[in-house]
Amino acid sequence: LKPRLLLLLLSIVALPLAALTAVGLFVARDERALQEHQFRELARSSLMEVDVSIGRVLEDRRRELDRLADGAALEPTALRELIRGEPLARQAFVLDGEGRLLFPREGSAVTENERQFLERSAPVWRRGELARLISGRAEQPVRSSDSTWKIELQRAASNIGYRQTAGPSGEAGWMTWYWGSGTHFLYWRRSGGDRVLGFEVDRARLLADVIAALPATESSADEDDARGLLGRRVLRDANGEVLYQWGRGGDALGADPNAKPLASLGLSPPLQAWRLDEYVPEAMLAAGGGGLWFGIVAGLVGSGALLVLLAVYFYRESSREMREAAQRVNFVNQVSHELKTPLTNIRMYAELMEGRLGEEADPKTREWLDVISSESQRLSRLIGNVLTFGRGRRKTLKLHGKSCRADEIAGAVVERFRPALERRGLKVETALEPADLLALDADALDQILGNLLGNVEKYGGAEGTVRVGCRRDGETIVISVADEGPGVPAAEAERIFRPFYRVSNKLSDGVSGAGIGLAIARELARLHGGDVRLVESGRGAAFEARVKGLEKS
Ligand code: ADP
Repeated sequence: LKPRLLLLLLSIVALPLAALTAVGLFVARDERALQEHQFRELARSSLMEVDVSIGRVLEDRRRELDRLADGAALEPTALRELIRGEPLARQAFVLDGEGRLLFPREGSAVTENERQFLERSAPVWRRGELARLISGRAEQPVRSSDSTWKIELQRAASNIGYRQTAGPSGEAGWMTWYWGSGTHFLYWRRSGGDRVLGFEVDRARLLADVIAALPATESSADEDDARGLLGRRVLRDANGEVLYQWGRGGDALGADPNAKPLASLGLSPPLQAWRLDEYVPEAMLAAGGGGLWFGIVAGLVGSGALLVLLAVYFYRESSREMREAAQRVNFVNQVSHELKTPLTNIRMYAELMEGRLGEEADPKTREWLDVISSESQRLSRLIGNVLTFGRGRRKTLKLHGKSCRADEIAGAVVERFRPALERRGLKVETALEPADLLALDADALDQILGNLLGNVEKYGGAEGTVRVGCRRDGETIVISVADEGPGVPAAEAERIFRPFYRVSNKLSDGVSGAGIGLAIARELARLHGGDVRLVESGRGAAFEARVKGLEKS
């Protein structure tokens, strides 16, 4: 198998396979991204449900606090009494209509608990945000950068009242602030006149309530399925610390600091500092694409096998054809060889007979003998061409240089052709300058000029003069053959030298020929360091064969 053919076969198989693989990988990546997106959406919407159920807990706590505040006397002793034994309310406080703190107050008689509350809540009073909420001058505490959060808020607001943390009316609301190591919560509401009663909410208690409403940390797979759980859910505080987690995959999944959550959702106010993350095992995302991968690999293997089979089929077909072509060439070569000897005999005997004819011989007999010898010459020229062509193809064409004179060889060939050319009505003129002895392959030179004159005989028309010249041009011998026939169209000037190429026209149609004469003449001339070309001439076709001396062998 030739390397070029092997490369071609490989690329026939490899290129489509590579293209298929690329498409497959592309599709698989796309599919994975789509799957991930779907999972993320699913996780996000179920995290929102969790947010809503946490919202319900907050709503219950709000009602509880409202009940506590209903009809409460805003006196320090009464307030201290009010929250005693209330696990949810850590501290009560009273504000005036402008949000200024009336109780407990720095400087007045405060208990240790109240002093601590004042210390904890200092940022609230300093910032004045609560005062703005109460006086109705503040916007809703919406994180303006997070527009999706706003939408969620609006959607959820219709069923969960607590989210209206502070309506424009400034009736009631939650407030969060950051102090020490975490978030603190307070709830406030207007309470008769222009006073505001509020409670600091015990955050441990609030967290416990929230957690109590969430599924158990450990659950069975069936329960997880029923809840539509994809993976591990983690509730985190403002510092990213895990507050609680549940769902599939165990603690490790949520605790892995490098794991990227599939979905993440900030809780609705007042728990906006907290976050829900959902983690799924990497394998789960990849698992969805498993079927697809199998399909792609199977498709690739299948089409690869098909391509290999096709390539093998084409290779066998083409090698069979090449083998047959080689056999045909061999056959033609052998037959040509076999024809050579009988043909030489026919020529020889015809010439012997011609020599025996006396002066008084019948002119017809002489003419017929002429025909026999020139036809057999033509046939041996054809056979010579076929054999030379075969050698050229097998790269075994070799020339043998022997000292000879080109003008003498040319003269002999012209004389061989003269009777046939004259019979056609053509005049033959020669201009053969005596040349020096030069190492040439006489047979090759004979074949070159024979082919050119053979063409004149076939295509050179029925009248006019054929001029054959031989001259020296520096180191080169130039042999020229010019006829006055119809010539060769300019567009064909190069093509006629291609093997098997024949011009089709009135003149050449019906004339026998294999289309290799000029190709061989050119090849032989090139082996002599020269060339055969069609040259410019006033009328007819003019060929010029240039040859140089060979290395003597
Ligand atoms: P063949 O003679 O077998 O067709 P050649 O290679 O010798 O093959 O010639 C190729 C073609 O060139 C011929 O078919 C013919 O059309 C054209 N040709 C060659 N010699 C002449 C010429 N002297 N005058 C006109 N046409 C020619």
